[in-house]
Amino acid sequence: MGDLSANFSLHEFTRSGTAQRYRLDNIPDDLQRAAIAELANNPCQWLRDQLGRIDVTGGFVTPEVNALIAGRTQGGQHERGEAADLLPRYVDRWYAWGVLVAGVLHGLMPIDQAIVYDDKPHIHVSYIARGGRRPNRTQLLYLPSGSRDYLPWQPWA
Ligand SMILES: [Zn+2]
Repeated sequence: MGDLSANFSLHEFTRSGTAQRYRLDNIPDDLQRAAIAELANNPCQWLRDQLGRIDVTGGFVTPEVNALIAGRTQGGQHERGEAADLLPRYVDRWYAWGVLVAGVLHGLMPIDQAIVYDDKPHIHVSYIARGGRRPNRTQLLYLPSGSRDYLPWQPWA
């Protein structure tokens, strides 16, 4: 049992190896905590229900911690508590991605943005609460190997 959703706990979204290494606090405020709860209860829990156990390899980070993580977008959704990097335990990311895409296209899995990478094992997922600061974009993106340009996910193209 998690304290945020059926299977997710706040600490899974706030622990950070980078914060530990640099002895920095990584504590969300109330607004960020609410965003994390929405993220856990919506896309994360839906995907967990389909795929079994999922590790959160990146969740909320303060701007200070985020700045120390290579390749991270500054001011991005990880700093708002709206984004998580998910690593399924029992299936590879392409299987997970297929399930995610099906869920999104059928309107079962609400997302703002989901990203799959050639060069990273996790899937990035973000979500904004209903009635939140803006509507979700429902964007599926793909970052090819060695590229910096995120492409729309169009497996049929
Ligand atoms: Zn991410």
